[in-house]
Amino acid sequence: MNAAKGQSTKLDAKLFDDVPVLRRKWQAALKPGETLPRYENVLLGSLGRLADHLVLLKCDNGAFAVSRTGRYAQNWLGDARWNIPMDALRPDCATVLSEAVSNAIANNRPYLAAAHCVRAGMVRTYDVLALPTFSRWGGTLVGAYVNERGTEFNLIDAIFCTTDDGVVSLSALRDPTGRPLDFQVVHHNQAAVKLLDVAEHSLLWQRLSNSDHLLCSQEVVGRLRAAVTNDQSDQFEIEDDNRSLRLGVSAFGNIVSLVISDVTSLKRRDASFRLLFDSNPMPMWAFDAETMDFVRVNDAAVQHYGYARETFLRMKVQEIWPKDEQVGYTRALRDAGDIYQSEHPWRHVKADGSEICVLTFGRRLIIEGREGYLVVVFDITERRKAEARIAHMALHDGLTNLANRALHRERLGDALENGNAAGKHVAVLCIDLDLFKNVNDSFGHAMGDHLLEQVADRLRSRVAGNNLAARLGGDEFAVILTDDISPNRASDFAAELIRSLSAPYEIDGNQVVIGASVGIALSPGDGTSSEELMRNADMALYRAKEDGRGTHRFFEREMDYQAQRRRELELDLRRAFADSEFELHYQPLVDIASDKISGFEALLRWRHPEKGMISPAEFIPLAEEIGLIAPLGEWVLRDACNEAVKWPSEIKVAVNLSPAQFRSLHLVQVVISALANSGLAPKRLELEITESVFLAETEANLAILHQLRELGVSISLDDFGTGYSSLSYLRSFPFDKIKIDRSFVKDLAIRSDCGAIVRAISGLGRSLNITTTAEGVETTEQLDWLRAEGCNEVQGFLFSAARPAAEVGQLLLRFGARASKAA
Ligand code: C2E
Ligand code: CA
Ligand code: CA
Repeated sequence: MNAAKGQSTKLDAKLFDDVPVLRRKWQAALKPGETLPRYENVLLGSLGRLADHLVLLKCDNGAFAVSRTGRYAQNWLGDARWNIPMDALRPDCATVLSEAVSNAIANNRPYLAAAHCVRAGMVRTYDVLALPTFSRWGGTLVGAYVNERGTEFNLIDAIFCTTDDGVVSLSALRDPTGRPLDFQVVHHNQAAVKLLDVAEHSLLWQRLSNSDHLLCSQEVVGRLRAAVTNDQSDQFEIEDDNRSLRLGVSAFGNIVSLVISDVTSLKRRDASFRLLFDSNPMPMWAFDAETMDFVRVNDAAVQHYGYARETFLRMKVQEIWPKDEQVGYTRALRDAGDIYQSEHPWRHVKADGSEICVLTFGRRLIIEGREGYLVVVFDITERRKAEARIAHMALHDGLTNLANRALHRERLGDALENGNAAGKHVAVLCIDLDLFKNVNDSFGHAMGDHLLEQVADRLRSRVAGNNLAARLGGDEFAVILTDDISPNRASDFAAELIRSLSAPYEIDGNQVVIGASVGIALSPGDGTSSEELMRNADMALYRAKEDGRGTHRFFEREMDYQAQRRRELELDLRRAFADSEFELHYQPLVDIASDKISGFEALLRWRHPEKGMISPAEFIPLAEEIGLIAPLGEWVLRDACNEAVKWPSEIKVAVNLSPAQFRSLHLVQVVISALANSGLAPKRLELEITESVFLAETEANLAILHQLRELGVSISLDDFGTGYSSLSYLRSFPFDKIKIDRSFVKDLAIRSDCGAIVRAISGLGRSLNITTTAEGVETTEQLDWLRAEGCNEVQGFLFSAARPAAEVGQLLLRFGARASKAA
């Protein structure tokens, strides 16, 4: 900003000393004991030229009036009269005189005031010193000394210089017909020089036609001419590369006054606002806060909402609100402050009638001269849908769209909470599909999936209201029945369900039949928490499957007891393996022809610290189930080989293999390693397997058997005659030995069919060159029969039960030469 340039007049410096001189004179005239000095002593005589500057004021009935004035003072007052009342004086003089006089009287002291007066367009500052005195003739007399302080300002210049706006005065030069032709700059301020970016000398007194700056353009000159011709004002904007100037033109006769304002930043702000608004990808609009009319809408809003711009601009905000929200939204908007942000999503209606879900951000401001709101809209409809989808997915099964385990647990928890509180029963049914695995294995997973979808449909059609059907995984489903269900009704429901699920399915032109087993648990008797109830329903399901499938069972406490025992056993078993509580006992196999021990079968024993010896029949199935059989079986193999290598070289060792061991990919490797580490010749190792090895993964298991046999190890088929007893197994693999199950041996003497079977197997063995071994031989009678039927080998308590490794030597001594019970 230009500093105001004061135009000071040089004055006699002595005058500045008059104020202290007068103060001293007043003080000197003050006599002790008096409050004011006498008039005569201060203001009469010896004042010399100072008398010219005096205004003498006399108190008349409480009001002051001017009684006499000096020549200088008359000039200042603009009035040469004596004896005039204060209110007849010029206001600027009266104001300062009143201030000085009243202060001086009130304090009984001289008082100095300053006066600013405008004289001929100049601002002048005066000192006014009021000297209070008392007169012998009565009353108070105040002498006011007036003098100009010595600085003055040109008011117009001050205004001109201090404004940032450029001011240029031009005089019009007319042609002979009187029309304005050209213009000459007759006055300008500093700001004009700056704004027009010209040197001062090329502006003042120059004609526009001879100059070269922004005002010389045809457009500006044209508008100036028009203003002069019509004696009018005009306002317009001009621009160069980087600035925008607004010109205000006023013509008075031949003089044109031009005010130039820099509106560059204003224009830029306007341009960036337009850019931000018009090309914003977010829908935006402005609406009138009072009438609710849309005042402006951007392209994105037009596109997003589907209303043509003209339509939009004729609408009111309420028209995009759904009918049922009018009251609430109006209130919310009325309560909105200068800046608002919707806390909850709002619903808006598009031109096609569809609803969207939006968040809005608004700001109150003046738009196109109207109080209103500028609003930005975020459409969160898709996000909302996605969130809902994700929420649904988190609680539903992708294939069947039934509730998943999580939702099932949650709903069961809720149902129980309500049921427990109201003393009502809640039933949970665990459903397992029978034979589903077969469908999956033989028809493929795609077909399995179709089947599960149809199962889900049937479940859904039977489960209504507050009840819930869920898929817990694989072919496991569950149903929650609320509504104070009785055991009878739960039972009927389960039976119906099984019937429905067991009806044939039509899938891709194939007819498929499966069945279902159901376990039921009822609150509160079978449990009050969802975990407990589910666990018990699951146990009941297990029982239903054990009891032959296609049926339903209720949970019973006994099941719980068994399950608990099983859990304890499992923990115990794992611990036992870690603590090396297992050992191998050996039972001799005796060759009938030579009456000599041909080998020993290694049989696993668990020496439990508290329960004593535990039979493998009790823990092998569990070890298989929990996956402990692989490490346990490996240990058996190594231990048996390590033991057998100490025996005479013609004595073999037989080791039992569980079908579960075939699932481990390392079985062959484990056998090779056991042989290598012990140094046992492969031909001395017999591996006993049961028919169940052929029930699943037949091809892979056969391959493993062949690999084992290639090692030189022999393979025996154990427990023959139980299980499926399919002779086809004998054809599918070249077994070295068949072990006839002891159930046939037991009844040899009493049941003729047992004898026939033993005879048949022995005959088959002979013709296929397979050794036949009879298990469980307890009597000489049985031994005689077996010998007669053509069996090659026997094993049983008649000779010895399985004994610890340390006793093998003794057994060999006893049965080394002649194996006979008669020993
Ligand atoms: P298995 O392979 O049929 O073993 C023969 C079973 O019959 C043994 O029972 C044995 O003690 C018993 N036994 C032998 N002679 C007679 C007899 O004259 N009369 C009667 N009543 N029984 C006799 P154990 O030792 O209790 O083994 C039971 C089953 O446990 C075995 O049946 C076998 O399938 C399994 N097993 C034993 N050890 C192992 C092993 O190390 N691994 C695997 N996978 N299974 C094993
Ligand atoms: Ca065996
Ligand atoms: Ca057996």
